[in-house]
Amino acid sequence: MADEGQVTRRGATGPAGQRKAAAPPLPSFRRVVVKLGTNVLTAGTEQLDWATMAALVGQIAHLHREKREVVVVTSGAVAAGRHRLGDVRRLKHIRLRQVYAAVGQSHLMDTYDQLFGEHKITIAQALVTKADLQDRVGYLNARNTLLALLELGVVPIVNENDVVAVDELAEASFGDNDTLSALLANLVDADVLVLLTDIEGLYTGDPARDPSARLVPLVTHIDESVEEMAGAARSQRSRGGMITKVRAARLATASGVAVIIANGHEKDVLLRLAAGERLGTLFPPAASKLESRKRWMLSGLSRRGALVVDEGAAAALSREHRSLLPAGVRDAEGDFQRGDIVTIRDSGQREIACGIVNYSAQDLAKVKGLRSSQVEAALGYHYGDEVVHRNNLVLL
Ligand code: GLU
Repeated sequence: MADEGQVTRRGATGPAGQRKAAAPPLPSFRRVVVKLGTNVLTAGTEQLDWATMAALVGQIAHLHREKREVVVVTSGAVAAGRHRLGDVRRLKHIRLRQVYAAVGQSHLMDTYDQLFGEHKITIAQALVTKADLQDRVGYLNARNTLLALLELGVVPIVNENDVVAVDELAEASFGDNDTLSALLANLVDADVLVLLTDIEGLYTGDPARDPSARLVPLVTHIDESVEEMAGAARSQRSRGGMITKVRAARLATASGVAVIIANGHEKDVLLRLAAGERLGTLFPPAASKLESRKRWMLSGLSRRGALVVDEGAAAALSREHRSLLPAGVRDAEGDFQRGDIVTIRDSGQREIACGIVNYSAQDLAKVKGLRSSQVEAALGYHYGDEVVHRNNLVLL
């Protein structure tokens, strides 16, 4: 449901302070996913726009200095590749897109590397497909890697792996980075997802064609009427358009993430949002993060297994929110694999938590009760010190 009473007229968006007070500001955040669309990165041209990217990277660097954690989801690979390769129409459409992405991705990353380098910030590249994140081990690996990068102060730059994702099989590809950014916001437990595009936010109609179209500053519930508004706006170069942004917002808000759609060309947009200024369209979270993570865990719970832990481990988990180490595991019941979600019970058989396991039931039969340093000798390999990392644990 869009809050019609709070719709502001297009063009009424002056500098800070002159705007009509409308939606509540973006809640304060520590971890944010920023999605940069092709139209933003190219500033509407046929190639990456250095000045625009430098301005955005400068803002991200500023957030980084404030000790906020930023994951960037970037588009622009296809556009950059198309510009580099020029017209090679003799190839068929889909393959061409993949060829462009392969050429453009390195150019895109090189640009980010130079720009973040000026701020002495290390970046990392992560290319993912839908299939990767649907696979339990892929999900776990992506999550563990991204969280480790954030802990190290690295800015991960994520894009869909267009070379691998197959467009015809819609199942296998996100198809647009809006959806990808929503799944990532959930994957890394972000507080906020900022979708930056080339218009101010969601309008009641298509602002390019309808002068009466107004900006909607706040959407508290995404229903059909909101999707209809979004469907009206079409964009030339972007793959998703407003409708995929609104659908991404629905996905992300359901997992406890606040979403903003705003104009990436608006001066200092990220800094102003972080300072609490009302810009763009805000979609407040529809659930608390903990509740939604709990729901997600419970829905994916493997019926096949459980871990029984000793009293010390149960206390460390419940009271101090620590990770579960092999030393605290008494028993691994059932037949679960690395990446499965299992319940964790105390010695009195009370269910105290659930979490994603780093080791299979078979492995745990060999390492239960051991110190973490003994795991490699016992198994011949090692997936980390924790049986369940505290990042992947939810108390019941
Ligand atoms: N992955 C595509 C690229 O890097 C963008 C997809 C999208 O526009 O959402 O060009």
